[in-house]
Amino acid sequence: MSKIIIIGGGISGLSAGIYLQANGYETEVLEKNHVSGGACIGWERKGCYIDGCIHWLSGVNPKSTTYPLWREIHAIKEDTDVFYQNELCVFDYGEGKKFTFYADLEKLEAELISFAPEDTKAIKHFCKLIKRFQKINPPVDKPSDMMNLGELLKVAFTMAGDYILVERTAKISCEKFTRRFKNPYLKHAISTYMASDYNLMSFLYMMGHVTAMDAGIPMGGSMGLTERVEQRYLSLGGRLTTRAEVEEILVEDDRVTGVRLKDGTCHYADWVVSTTPVEHCLKDLLRSKYRVKKIDMRLENERDYPIYTFTTAVVKCKKDTSSLPLSVTAPAKNPVSVEKEYDTISIRNYAYDRTVKSDGSDIFQITLSGGDQMYYWWKNAKENGTYLEEKKRIGQHLLQELKAYYPFLADSLEIIDFITPMTYERYLNSRHGCFQGFVHTARGKTLMQKGIIKGLKRFILAGQWIIQSGGLPTAVMSGRFSAQRICRADKKRFVAPSY
Ligand SMILES: Cc1cc2nc3c(=O)[nH]c(=O)nc-3n(C[C@H](O)[C@H](O)[C@H](O)COP(=O)(O)OP(=O)(O)OC[C@H]3O[C@@H](n4cnc5c(N)ncnc54)[C@H](O)[C@@H]3O)c2cc1C
Repeated sequence: MSKIIIIGGGISGLSAGIYLQANGYETEVLEKNHVSGGACIGWERKGCYIDGCIHWLSGVNPKSTTYPLWREIHAIKEDTDVFYQNELCVFDYGEGKKFTFYADLEKLEAELISFAPEDTKAIKHFCKLIKRFQKINPPVDKPSDMMNLGELLKVAFTMAGDYILVERTAKISCEKFTRRFKNPYLKHAISTYMASDYNLMSFLYMMGHVTAMDAGIPMGGSMGLTERVEQRYLSLGGRLTTRAEVEEILVEDDRVTGVRLKDGTCHYADWVVSTTPVEHCLKDLLRSKYRVKKIDMRLENERDYPIYTFTTAVVKCKKDTSSLPLSVTAPAKNPVSVEKEYDTISIRNYAYDRTVKSDGSDIFQITLSGGDQMYYWWKNAKENGTYLEEKKRIGQHLLQELKAYYPFLADSLEIIDFITPMTYERYLNSRHGCFQGFVHTARGKTLMQKGIIKGLKRFILAGQWIIQSGGLPTAVMSGRFSAQRICRADKKRFVAPSY
């Protein structure tokens, strides 16, 4: 039986393991951290569960093409409850200037028109586009280069219109799209809801999924999801080794033979799949000896291929917050100074999930979304010795902002954790503390890397960094694709595990 080493125990690594085990391979997942999950994690602090990932998981609707994949890896089981966020986000600009992004599209249109009647035409166009995106449901069960002619023709006939729309909206930034709106608050909300720089297509895709009831949050959070997937992998006979950081991928005559761990031990295999962040894999694990044009081009061009990261204060609240909105975007009372002045904050309320551990308190996360520059700023703070001091300063500032927004909770709030891009970098070995692949900007090209490195045999790249634009669906897809490619190379018919 062929042995396969999978580097990284995130959702793509565990998925690759599940599909490979189901196809008769002996696999071992090597994960650097003490738990699996990668970016899809949750943890406990001061008696409370903190969710570190899922804001919306697309593909939860049984009609979605991604749904069978979630079922195959047990991310969603028959009895998994999914929470649907009817009110995606409240935008509260103060003095009554407030509106909600509802998941019900008719309600959303009515809400926006009532808030900004001067933009009725633009709002109707916006909602029409979202409705159109609800229907975009591309095949995700195999990579297009592995489809036969019949399958390719079917995609071409059924999805030609979708591709034209996707291509067109991918070339427009959210900011440019809002130039047709007059209302400054609506402009602000639409252009900044996704991380700055995401193209219109990414925003419409997200809104399409949310309004089609195809994006929800499985109860039990990110940790619950990861535990189910890990369990699925182990139950198929997979082996997961944690605290096993790979230092080098071993190559002989352009053929991968195994890996060397940080502790010096070598592990040999017939194939190696790397699901680690791609920059770490190419530069550190493969010692920059092999080039991937599509990735190099992105790593060298931060302007067109930026990343997305967070600075977040996690706050515990001793009072019940279940009547408060799930998510609020509001102006900061005093701009928060990081690498720039942040004049809006985002407050997320986790009271929707009562199945997770809690000492009776509820949890808020107050987040500033940034990019490469935010990372450089925190990196500099680390290097010049002010990191802890800055964490404290910004944490206190975000706490004061939360108190100012919810004054009736002021005496019940306590910071219990603080996350910066350095946290993600350390935890995931990821580029600039990013947790979701390259941002798909209007200036950038769409990324679909096959996972094959020219000139390097018995090796597959997988994970969210090789398919636009990251996220959990991309992770499971790329794990599945890596198994399909190995089966094809070994002349085996790929079979998906039943559920
Ligand atoms: C705050 C936050 C919010 C998010 N919200 C959403 C959301 O709402 N919806 C959504 O779809 N996605 C969301 N994501 C993104 C999602 O979590 C990721 O896209 C997905 O988990 C990526 O999976 P992956 O397996 O490809 O990569 P990763 O999770 O990065 O897994 C790679 C693994 O490799 C390990 N590793 C790295 N280097 C080594 C090494 N040298 N040796 C051994 N192991 C190594 C890492 O520890 C990690 O476990 C969010 C992420 C975060 C952090």
